[in-house]
Amino acid sequence: MARNATFEIGGRAYPIVDHTYDTVVVGAGGSGLRATMGSAEAGLKTACITKVFPTRSHTVAAQGGIAASLGNNSPDHWSWHMFDTVKGSDWLGDQDAIEYMVREAPQAVYELEHAGVPFSRNTDGTIYQRPFGGHMQNMGEGPPVQRTCAAADRTGHAMLHALYQQSLKYAADFFVEYFALDLIMKDTPGGKVCVGVIAMCLDDGTIHRFRSKAVVLATGGYGRCYFTATSAHTCTGDGGGMVLRAGLPMQDMEFVQFHPTGIYGAGVLITEGARGEGGYLTNSEGERFMERYAPSAKDLASRDVVSRSMALEMREGRGVGPEKDHIYLHLDHIDPKILAERLPGITESGKIFAGVDLTVQPLPVTPTVHYNMGGIPCNYHGEVMAGDPNDPEKIVPGLFAVGEAACVSVHGANRLGSNSLIDLVVFGRATGHRLKEIITPGTAHDELPGDSADLALTRLDHFRHAAGGSPTAQVRAEMQKTMTRHAAVFRDSALLSEGVTRLAEINKRMQDISVTDRSLIWNSDLIETLELDNLMAQANVTMASAENRKESRGAHAHEDFPERDDKNWMKHTITWFEGWGGNGGGVKIDYRPVHEYTLTDDVEYIKPKKRVY
Ligand SMILES: Cc1cc2nc3c(=O)[nH]c(=O)nc-3n(C[C@H](O)[C@H](O)[C@H](O)COP(=O)(O)OP(=O)(O)OC[C@H]3O[C@@H](n4cnc5c(N)ncnc54)[C@H](O)[C@@H]3O)c2cc1C
Repeated sequence: MARNATFEIGGRAYPIVDHTYDTVVVGAGGSGLRATMGSAEAGLKTACITKVFPTRSHTVAAQGGIAASLGNNSPDHWSWHMFDTVKGSDWLGDQDAIEYMVREAPQAVYELEHAGVPFSRNTDGTIYQRPFGGHMQNMGEGPPVQRTCAAADRTGHAMLHALYQQSLKYAADFFVEYFALDLIMKDTPGGKVCVGVIAMCLDDGTIHRFRSKAVVLATGGYGRCYFTATSAHTCTGDGGGMVLRAGLPMQDMEFVQFHPTGIYGAGVLITEGARGEGGYLTNSEGERFMERYAPSAKDLASRDVVSRSMALEMREGRGVGPEKDHIYLHLDHIDPKILAERLPGITESGKIFAGVDLTVQPLPVTPTVHYNMGGIPCNYHGEVMAGDPNDPEKIVPGLFAVGEAACVSVHGANRLGSNSLIDLVVFGRATGHRLKEIITPGTAHDELPGDSADLALTRLDHFRHAAGGSPTAQVRAEMQKTMTRHAAVFRDSALLSEGVTRLAEINKRMQDISVTDRSLIWNSDLIETLELDNLMAQANVTMASAENRKESRGAHAHEDFPERDDKNWMKHTITWFEGWGGNGGGVKIDYRPVHEYTLTDDVEYIKPKKRVY
């Protein structure tokens, strides 16, 4: 570590502390920790930067479980898991990546078991597995399969703590409560290359320049674009913001998952495991309406299907409550002993956030923003795609993405429950393997470009001294309400095009933003503004992608185009943001082909068909 440069702007000096690593991972959730471990284990000098303490990452809140075809509680096979994931994705997922994930999944779960994750057990000592939405036996034929491995309803908590403890045993350096600002990109004749990242220490305001052979973005989702979301307030898509500012595209951003069972009002999640354990939904007439929409899978149909059915019930006046704006989730028929053993966390959440004793009363729930299928485009080695129209598989050397920040794409247009936790560890590990293959420890680093800190620090200084008339919280609320109103479970052309215009106007207010605290020490006003800037870009890109896609697929339910249109739309959307500095909404759109092939000959490409549950 050495202090060897100072960045000056407007008479203000920002001394820079320099670091050199083989790999820098940004993010310490499940995916970031797994990638950190993999990199360090490979003998690479590794740093992990995280804005919150590792075990406070959103992965800690994951409840229901992690999918792998272990076959402990019912017959199962990886090819069934593959079929369900492809069908769940509404055929937008890349089948090579999906095959890779489902085949690696059992090993990844055993690895977690050996790392100390206290999985719930069957009486014979094997890992307990519960049913989850969209996971079936016999290539989708049914009945539901028990595939989701769980540690009661605190699986993410158990996983994240085990991964953090494990990662401490490797020689990785943790930079905790450091906020990554921007990537350091270098233009070369072959295209852009990533050579490091700039971060700020939240505690003392020092600026840190990390020079590295690889940067792995593991920054999680951007659920906080919306007014109510099950994700933590830290889920602001900072990695996506950095990628867009580097002039690189994001992929499939129109696909935002609404989880059927957020607690009405609070938005806190009730895991799908609740329905996996026998819970069911009713409308104001006491009817188990899912039987009408998904005769076979019923309450365990995939999330987009259940969320839409609930929205339709409410729209047709069969919602519960005085405003008919929510639905009941029943667990009151389940033996309280089972609830205490398998769903203790949500029993508590029901009491705290809805004032309901769910052993005797139904819980008020409503579809709530939960997960981003879209993200930073990458292949199943974690390598980020450049978005080159002539070469869709071209990568950006030095840049990787994993976890919810990434779009591999295994989830396509709709993710199946419990497929994210497995995605984190499988692709975190795969990225570690790739880093080992391509980086030789101890070799020289690329020269940093002369302007390595310009983008990050000009932007930081700009917001630090922003003296306009629009407080961050006000602009953020307007963005969130617009997303909630214009890009919800159901969308139509009028709503979406109005949404695009409104967001472009709201983005203009970034020019007029007001930050009142000028210090660099724990300046939450400034950090929230930097996060808002990241969210704003992704909100605009999400709305524009949704407006552009003239079909319905997975989580994107377009009322003017209610059918899936494989002929014209079986392709990934990729989008660049050009509206920086409050310069309107400017989104550029292009496409990448869906991988219509598998990884090996062990399984055939699963051909598109109508998706019914
Ligand atoms: C309530 C809830 C329950 C869920 N339950 C399940 C489940 O049961 N099964 C399942 O499969 N999926 C579940 N999911 C989804 C899944 O948990 C998430 O998709 C996954 O945990 C995301 O992990 P991640 O590693 O990508 O990112 P996160 O866990 O969100 O971590 C992001 C990391 O990035 C860091 N970071 C972000 N920005 C910066 C920055 N600018 N500088 C430095 N560091 C930064 C943060 O500090 C953090 O360490 C659930 C999600 C929620 C919200």
